[in-house]
Amino acid sequence: MQKHRDIWEKKIEKKWIIWKQDCPFCAKPDKQEKKLILWQSDLWEVRYNKFPYWWIKKHLLAFPKRHVEHITKLTKKEFAWLKDVEKFILNYYKDTQYFVFLRETFYWRSIAHIHYHYLPWNIHWSDFAKILKKQWFTK
Ligand SMILES: [Zn+2]
Repeated sequence: MQKHRDIWEKKIEKKWIIWKQDCPFCAKPDKQEKKLILWQSDLWEVRYNKFPYWWIKKHLLAFPKRHVEHITKLTKKEFAWLKDVEKFILNYYKDTQYFVFLRETFYWRSIAHIHYHYLPWNIHWSDFAKILKKQWFTK
């Protein structure tokens, strides 16, 4: 699985950001990606991360189906549906603690389309620091 993350890092290596024209969240999922989808409504989707951090199978991503680049651009209806995304997540992790962060950026080696990362609790801080460094958030 670490190999998968390497594939992603290679893809993003020479880019600041992936914009709408190459957006993997807007692209029609292929056969393999369809298997990653865990939950969806008309407006949101939750799937396993195709390129998870550190072999973590339960590394999930949630994103609006419409290409939205900043949380302030969500409609009220999309915001309301976020509650259902969270209900799904709560049920998915059950007794496992998890960590969530919103990826919202125009510059920092990611996808412009906003997406939440959900990770189960047992991440070592130094591994997380490496990720932040690779994405240029830390020195
Ligand atoms: Zn998109």
